[in-house]
Amino acid sequence: MALIVHKYGGTSMGSTERIRNVAKRVAKWARAGHQMVVVPSAMSGETNRLLGLAKELAPEKASAAVDRELDMLAATGEQASSALLAIALQAEGMQSVSYAGWQVPIRTNSAYTKARIESIDDKKVRADLAAGRVVIVTGFQGVDEHGHITTLGRGGSDTSAVAVAAAMKAAECLIYTDVDGVYTTDPRVVPEARRLKTVSFEEMLEMASMGSKVLQIRSVEFAGKYRVPLRVLSSFTPWDIDIQEEAASGTLITFEEDEHMENAVVSGIAFNRDEAKISILSVPDKPGIAYNILGAVADANIEVDVIIQNISKDGKTDFSFTVHRNDYARTIDLLKAKVLPALGTDHLEGDTKICKVSIVGIGMRSHVGIASKMFRALSEEGINIQMISTSEIKTSVVIDEKYMELAVRALHRAFDLDQPAA
Ligand code: ASP
Ligand code: MG
Repeated sequence: MALIVHKYGGTSMGSTERIRNVAKRVAKWARAGHQMVVVPSAMSGETNRLLGLAKELAPEKASAAVDRELDMLAATGEQASSALLAIALQAEGMQSVSYAGWQVPIRTNSAYTKARIESIDDKKVRADLAAGRVVIVTGFQGVDEHGHITTLGRGGSDTSAVAVAAAMKAAECLIYTDVDGVYTTDPRVVPEARRLKTVSFEEMLEMASMGSKVLQIRSVEFAGKYRVPLRVLSSFTPWDIDIQEEAASGTLITFEEDEHMENAVVSGIAFNRDEAKISILSVPDKPGIAYNILGAVADANIEVDVIIQNISKDGKTDFSFTVHRNDYARTIDLLKAKVLPALGTDHLEGDTKICKVSIVGIGMRSHVGIASKMFRALSEEGINIQMISTSEIKTSVVIDEKYMELAVRALHRAFDLDQPAA
């Protein structure tokens, strides 16, 4: 008998019929002798619907006061689905109780709409489990020190589930979703993409940070920090599928590099169109330039991703970096107002039609020539690389967004990702 946490995404909770299926699946696990804690998302579309209503009433009024109410509002989506699941479980003959975040309590800081979990008190949940109940902990929400309801950012119920699993030292946290695991790349772009049986926590972190929407990145960070055994699997298998088979399906996020690991050097190709490139040309090449430019950007709370500075000519250099597209206009305004005058240049160029494509794999640590293989595959397709950035387990390139799919397909092929793992 083990303590298991299940998390069900919005699609899995999308109708009463689907909630009934979730209840039957959870009941199967409980009847097999496990202690079950379940963390559901809001029914699909519900969070968008609620936030849309708020937008109708206050289109642009972002303020701390409005953010507080947004959390009050958005948290109701998960509260409803949690209660419905408890009701469905009772209808299946199980004892079940649901708790809102503040009832557990799940304590967070006060950063409305993107709060961070600080602690979870598991006493109540443990007492219910000991009394034979299935416990539903409402996802996506918590409570701050003043008793205000907070939410954890879009996709945050993944983080709720992993945090509960960490706090309760669960044997495993199973994230049930509408895909059956983590793939080598998006199967909509590359139909030959393969499901990975395992992926290392660090690879998953890179993939999540680069636009793979399978898990909220904070949940992956949490799993890494507390070593929570995590599995992503489909909620669309028949609920009465053999429990052993179900427990081994999907993708397991592993921590031991050698154990269970697939042997590929590159495990996946990630891509996103979320960024925009900004270049400042002919800036004086002297100490403090990067600081003058990026310091001002950082002070405005704008996150910078890829950075390059060209070799200088006649004491002048070009400096380029990427920011999130949502921050593009703000960054340009800021540079024009505060940075360019001090640098004595007005050569500013921007490009929002770029994308970032990355190869990810912990095998890159111990193999040479991986990046050059990537560059060759892109050059064979005639794709120009605008920027490059690397980390120990990833190489990213910035290219024209119109070549994104071509690049992803070429790299998937070049690294044999469509072949079954060795
Ligand atoms: N319902 C929330 C959202 O849509 C949280 C979640 O589903 O994880 O972002
Ligand atoms: Mg999600």
